[in-house]
Amino acid sequence: MLKSKQTRRVPPASGDTLIEAIPQLVWTARPNGWHEYVNQRWRDYVGLTLEQVQSVWAHFQFIHPDDQEGNRMHWEYALETGAMFEHEERLKQGPTGEYRWFLTRAMPMRDETGQIVTLFGTCTDIDEQKRIEETLRPALERADTLMKSKIIGIFVTEGEQIVDANDTFLRMTSYTREDLRAGCMNVLQMTPPEYMARTLQARQELDTQESMTPYEKEYLCQDGSRLPVLVCGVVFQHSPRQVIHSVLDNSARKELEQHKYDFLNIVSHELGTPLTAVKLQTHLVRKRLEKHSQHEAATELSRVEGPVKQLERLIAELLDASKIQAGRLEYVRKRVDLDELLREVTDTMQHTSPSHTIVVRGSVQTSLIGDRDRLGQVFSNLLSNAMKYSPDAKTVEVELSSSEEAVTILVRDHGLGIPREQCDKIFERFYRADIARLRAIPGLGMGLSIVAEIVKGHGGTIVVDSDVGKGSAFTVTLPRRREA
Ligand code: ADP
Repeated sequence: MLKSKQTRRVPPASGDTLIEAIPQLVWTARPNGWHEYVNQRWRDYVGLTLEQVQSVWAHFQFIHPDDQEGNRMHWEYALETGAMFEHEERLKQGPTGEYRWFLTRAMPMRDETGQIVTLFGTCTDIDEQKRIEETLRPALERADTLMKSKIIGIFVTEGEQIVDANDTFLRMTSYTREDLRAGCMNVLQMTPPEYMARTLQARQELDTQESMTPYEKEYLCQDGSRLPVLVCGVVFQHSPRQVIHSVLDNSARKELEQHKYDFLNIVSHELGTPLTAVKLQTHLVRKRLEKHSQHEAATELSRVEGPVKQLERLIAELLDASKIQAGRLEYVRKRVDLDELLREVTDTMQHTSPSHTIVVRGSVQTSLIGDRDRLGQVFSNLLSNAMKYSPDAKTVEVELSSSEEAVTILVRDHGLGIPREQCDKIFERFYRADIARLRAIPGLGMGLSIVAEIVKGHGGTIVVDSDVGKGSAFTVTLPRRREA
């Protein structure tokens, strides 16, 4: 049997029911503060009946003493102007005596003569919101202080658009706040083409790690100039996604680097020219002595050639180091036959340094795209180190191998070795292991940092495995195919 559909009769909502249903304290009052009506929620909150508050300003006892003055001023202003009364104030909960924050709003109502006769008011509990604000205040103040930094430029992006920036960043880039508001500041548009790839890489880093490693770049300023900076960023809001960036003006450092680079360029040129003359002259005189069978004198003279070569190498290293620091080490990208290059390097080294026998095992049987001279520099540097740091050994070994992905060149010596804890450091500029210094083996500690940079520039890696007193093995791995 079908059940008859039951209908529930809902009584029509009266004004009173509605007022009792809303989550606010509701009241009406005369201009003199006499409460004519308060809802049940109001009465429960203060713990009094309507009759108990029906006297002039009786409700004032529930307003926190510090907020009473503000309440009175806003009340008077509302009566004078007819504007909405609006005041944040603490109201005392009658039963517990505790204060909670409320937003009190009231609309002044006029009679037919234009006289304000009643105020219709509500008090909304905003205590939780206020407490959150209080908790956040120190953080907000700190953020505000940071934004006022005179040294660090700070800006916020949504996508590529800069949506906020501190005065320092605007000053650095010669944009105005109006430009910012008008949406004229766009990170990609402010990035010169040569920094685009690095900037996009940093964006990707942000996507995966929510923060980016600080990196150096330049911004195109509003006045057309360029600003070298050190920049980093971190995601601080997800919807909409916002990234906060901090920027340090790098121009002073860049200028200094340029001076240093220019200085080293001049110095190496000034040192190199007379050195070439000395080398040439020595060579000529030695030839002449040999021609006249003055072999003893020729041998004496040939002793100059070693230190001259050492000086030449030193100057070249100084120049390379300054190029690396200025980001100006450039590579020619051509097909290089590695076996042929290695043969050439080992033959030359064997010829100039007969103290050790260079034993080559295996072959790579492949070519790769790279800079022939620079790769040659890597292998000759590793070989000359291997000989230099194994003064008592007779051989130095080179082992070559390749896989589908990469070629491996290993240079092994049976010499002094490097303490384990110093193995990573030897690739840093000017770092020399204790043994090298103690044994007074000449060197500046620059060669390996250049080697590591060149290997990195070819997308490869270099590692060392070493045992003190037994020897060292340096392994260079170069990828066979690289993205253009
Ligand atoms: P340099 O040889 O001019 O000091 P490098 O940058 O070529 O500079 O090498 C850095 C340091 O690494 C050297 O000072 C030395 O302590 C250590 N080193 C490099 N190669 C070897 C090696 N084959 N055996 C032992 N120590 C080495």
